[in-house]
Amino acid sequence: MMNKLYDLCSVDVDKYPIWDEISTNIKETIDYLFKKQYEKVYASTKYNKEIAKSLKMDCINDNNEDVANCTFYSIMIFDLIENIANFWESAENVEYAESWDKLQNALDCCKKLTTDIKQNYLLNFSLILEHLLFIEKLYPYNLFASISLGVNKLKCSICGESPFNSKCDHISGELYWGNLCFYEAQEIGDFDHIAITPFPRDKRCIILIKYDKMKVEESPFRMIYDFINKCQYPLRN
Ligand SMILES: [Zn+2]
Repeated sequence: MMNKLYDLCSVDVDKYPIWDEISTNIKETIDYLFKKQYEKVYASTKYNKEIAKSLKMDCINDNNEDVANCTFYSIMIFDLIENIANFWESAENVEYAESWDKLQNALDCCKKLTTDIKQNYLLNFSLILEHLLFIEKLYPYNLFASISLGVNKLKCSICGESPFNSKCDHISGELYWGNLCFYEAQEIGDFDHIAITPFPRDKRCIILIKYDKMKVEESPFRMIYDFINKCQYPLRN
């Protein structure tokens, strides 16, 4: 089944002028990121996520689920920009485990934005995704820990019922009134095993690699170190 593509250009800005402000602010925040003005990026993303949330409440009151769902993606765009800024800042500080974590957050946002929204809104997310996937390959992390646990009880994030209950008709990964449905583990069951794998579900469970911050050029992180030094500014080549 093809999933529904959200068209962020279709929001009626006469009815919701704040959407226009959000779009302008996305461009402005990207500009701060290009110039490595991280503090401005963080202040702007914080402020804009709040106004997007209040727009979502207005849409819910207006009975407009489509625009409520668009606000979800505008928040995700600010999350993406914020995480790219976090990634750059920690990579510049030679904090590679932390920068890897932020890179994974940015990748998660960017993957969802490329699959869920029409690619006509402000930024070329496929190109950003390609760029981030390239950066990912520069890290020496290629084995990850993956924990296998039983789950006894699940809860739907939208209605609070078990997804196995007939009262819940929500689908994990879909949006409802600007909120993402996911199934939350309520009760963890038996521990099964930990696997070391190159293909984990979550690449954040890295196996830590020690390095000397004074000699990064000679460490397994030399490729990402070189890239950050040569590239100089985010989202370039
Ligand atoms: Zn539900």
